[in-house]
Amino acid sequence: MRTEILGVAFDNVDMAEALDRAEDLLCDGCRPHMAVTPNAIMVQDANHDSDLADIIRCADLVIPDGVGVIYASKILGRPLKARVPGVDFAAGLMERMAKSGKTLFLLGAKPGVAEEAAQKLRETYPGLVICGTQDGYFKDSGRVAEQIRAALADVVFVCLGSPKQEKWIRDWGEATGASLLIGLGGSIDVFAGRVERAPEFWQKIGMEWLYRTVKEPKRLGRIVKLPLFLCSAVGARLRGK
Ligand code: UDP
Repeated sequence: MRTEILGVAFDNVDMAEALDRAEDLLCDGCRPHMAVTPNAIMVQDANHDSDLADIIRCADLVIPDGVGVIYASKILGRPLKARVPGVDFAAGLMERMAKSGKTLFLLGAKPGVAEEAAQKLRETYPGLVICGTQDGYFKDSGRVAEQIRAALADVVFVCLGSPKQEKWIRDWGEATGASLLIGLGGSIDVFAGRVERAPEFWQKIGMEWLYRTVKEPKRLGRIVKLPLFLCSAVGARLRGK
């Protein structure tokens, strides 16, 4: 059973459980599976974009990426177990894939960045098979899906920003032939070392968003939505929802 937070139903999983579920999806022989990593902004977007809401509802794994979602779950009186940041989930999955031999395709980010990320990831996770990369500024989705199919990818990290990445997975996931496609926002930039993650202390206290906003002031417009999100949670709680 999923836990509903302001219209979006999340799997109430911690990191180890999320990774186990992802591995099960990879091995169950059905395809394609989709995993999504909504944060507070994506939940708000889903409330105004019924397409995005439907995609999340149908996803095989919906993990809470973002401290805002965790706070809202507490305000609503149905606390989620843990925050599972998409980028950490991806890292954990690669660690397991390096052992299981499953293949990974990196899709997204500016030209050249996915190749840089692939190089670094191969060093970090010896044995990890990255079977292809493609930047996120392509015109012909059919050609990209064919490229992924030809590369025999088991897993695709789709990093085109939300909601573009979720809609791309819905429209083209099957054509890629991959078993599991995961929407992961700016993760390729992080793996390439182009975007710096907050030091662990900031991550632990749930303030990574503040650190990133100070480093990238253009994110300010997104962050001001967070108090509104939490106010909606308070409103929903008072209305008994
Ligand atoms: N991006 C892309 N194609 C596009 C638009 C965006 O590949 O058409 C990439 C962009 O270069 C960045 C990522 O998508 O690497 C979005 O990152 P953002 O920080 O917005 O995502 P978040 O992690 O905050 O969801």
